[in-house]
Amino acid sequence: MKKEEKQRFETKAVHAGYDSERHFGSLTPPIYQTSTFTFSSLEQGAKRFAGEEKGYIYSRLSNPTVSILEERIARLEGGEAALAFASGMAAVSAALIGITKMNDHILCSKGVYGCTFGLLQMLKEKYNIDHHFHNMISAEGILSNIRENTTCIFIETPINPTMRVIDLELVTTVAKKKGIKVVVDNTFSTPYLQKPLQMGSDLVIHSATKYIGGHGDVIGGIIVGNGDTIRYLQKTTQKDIGGVISPFDAWLLLRGIKTIAVRMDRHCKNAGKLAEQLKNHPKIKAVYYPGDQDHPDYEIMKRQMKKGGGLLSFEIDGTYEDTVNVVNQLNLIQIAVSLGDAETLIQHPASMTHAVVPKEVRKEMGISNQLLRLSAGLEAPEDIWEDLEQALDSLR
Ligand SMILES: *Cc1c(COP(=O)(O)O)cnc(C)c1O
Repeated sequence: MKKEEKQRFETKAVHAGYDSERHFGSLTPPIYQTSTFTFSSLEQGAKRFAGEEKGYIYSRLSNPTVSILEERIARLEGGEAALAFASGMAAVSAALIGITKMNDHILCSKGVYGCTFGLLQMLKEKYNIDHHFHNMISAEGILSNIRENTTCIFIETPINPTMRVIDLELVTTVAKKKGIKVVVDNTFSTPYLQKPLQMGSDLVIHSATKYIGGHGDVIGGIIVGNGDTIRYLQKTTQKDIGGVISPFDAWLLLRGIKTIAVRMDRHCKNAGKLAEQLKNHPKIKAVYYPGDQDHPDYEIMKRQMKKGGGLLSFEIDGTYEDTVNVVNQLNLIQIAVSLGDAETLIQHPASMTHAVVPKEVRKEMGISNQLLRLSAGLEAPEDIWEDLEQALDSLR
């Protein structure tokens, strides 16, 4: 066993995948800002292309700074290997296009990221890769929704933006029996809070733009899985579609991820406090936070997540106009999509992240016009609450 494998999560987040001795003692990973790599002879180039000699060829295929990031995240998720992409959607599309074929069927959690929804539509129209959404709350329910051509189950948990939690062990147990691959978009939870591969999933995807980067300054994506699947994706949908991350963006993610454990602890603490305070406010109709003991999936969350996460949603007890007024009254809290940044962010799913989802589907997913999603930042919780409270009080 390598000495790194015994290390705890927090230590791996700082050190995994990087050995300064191989880089002139540079404490932080160097940025290999190069498009291509030179060979010492034609024979060496030929060997690299043939896979007979390890080494770099061209930065769309692999790059040393990017490799450090990939190895670090693979270790944090407990996977064998990882691939980094230019965005979370480049990762989602490379994974789904890579593991499905024409006429397949994908079973999805009831609620997926808006652009994932768009991608699924496109796969259906162009390649007859069908999909449908299911709540995944019982083994019988999942089984009865599996078709002969179902080859993939795609899950987000907690679900964006309704915060329902899916029992990953339940889903992977059913999927294993049927030989179906389970892909989990783990963006909301991060490997610090939840490790889907250890619960039997086949692939984990991240929008690294969110908590992995953690500072709102980079767009990136990751796929983690077993060595064979990752090598296959590397040679196909990564290399030939080409949505690779730049060395500089990989470096920003390497910098961000060092602090993921301390950041997540604070994000979770702030979100938990806000959920409590919102629940007691007369202008709030409902609060959806997986770390709240009254949340319908609290027991599942306790089993598979370390903490309740940094995101919560809530419904204003009022009209759409009241909801608009609350948001426009905020001073500290910024109105923006995205999540996982140091700044507390608020957005209106019905008109922003989920605007592409047809109205009837939105209604079925529980996304009303009064629903707001908040990503708790790293500010003092008192300051975040005081801002929310003055905005809500302005409704009276
Ligand atoms: C943001 C997000 C994505 C897409 O990631 P990008 O980095 O914006 O391409 C996918 N899934 C979830 C859950 C997200 O929050």
